Amino acid sequence: MDKDEFTLFYQPIYDLRMDRVSGFEALLRWPHPKRGLVPPDQFIPIAEDIGLITPLGEWVLNRACEQAAGWPSELKIAVNVSATQIRDPRFAEVIANALDASTLAPHRLELEITESVLLGNSAETVATLHKLKAQGLSIALDDFGTGYSSLSYLRSFPFDKLKIDQSFVRDATATNGSKLIVRAITSLGKSLGITITAEGVETIEQLDQIRAEGCNEAQGFLFSRPVPATEIASTILNLRGGLARRHLSGAMTG
Ligand code: C2E
Ligand code: MG
Ligand code: MG
Repeated sequence: MDKDEFTLFYQPIYDLRMDRVSGFEALLRWPHPKRGLVPPDQFIPIAEDIGLITPLGEWVLNRACEQAAGWPSELKIAVNVSATQIRDPRFAEVIANALDASTLAPHRLELEITESVLLGNSAETVATLHKLKAQGLSIALDDFGTGYSSLSYLRSFPFDKLKIDQSFVRDATATNGSKLIVRAITSLGKSLGITITAEGVETIEQLDQIRAEGCNEAQGFLFSRPVPATEIASTILNLRGGLARRHLSGAMTG
């Protein structure tokens, strides 16, 4: 952090009904001179353990908002936040500062949390989430279907979005069980009025499947891998006019 070595990559989130990119998810990377691009799974748990996740998460929020403020205004930015970050009494202030400094409109910022944030059902955490939602931010439940998968979490907070974990999406074309789970989550989302995003869509077959089940949004390597900020514009252009055109232009790597 002192050497300012972290960087953010961005992966498009594709709106299946509008047939366009609706936003990007910020994904932290550590480009290391010897180890290459170190993925977040390898250092975020350590940052949590040594108490660095709060300042690191604050850096991510500031950076993501600053970059997103320069994008077309219909694009949202999704930022992953960890449980420790949200429990910090300063969290609401950190968000307010990031929005102020970047002048990003609050409705363009989406926070992605996992069920672990709600573990123990802390009243303070739920109050913080309500406060942020009241300010216009949206709150997504990430990796849905894994972890503790307690449906009571859906009752404890009015989430704007559920992101179906990639393990179900990957298997949805192979095993009937995963297909039915995707169907059940999508139908649950519909009843509750929550946007459903399928994560980890890698093939056309998976896309067809999740589209047939009625998912609203999709994200995955089929659309684009996470890219550096400098490639945001070309990624949007690449996906303009839908996937079909991209398919024909031979840009598919699937
Ligand atoms: P996540 O939030 O569920 O992010 C999705 C992960 O799936 C990303 O991994 C992304 O690169 C990967 N992915 C996307 N599409 C595909 C696909 O089609 N196939 C496959 N196999 N993978 C795909 P990444 O970037 O390594 O991030 C891993 C996790 O690290 C994230 O999972 C998130 O929980 C965490 N993370 C990333 N950035 C941050 C951050 O700034 N703060 C916090 N607290 N956590 C972060
Ligand atoms: Mg996420
Ligand atoms: Mg996820």
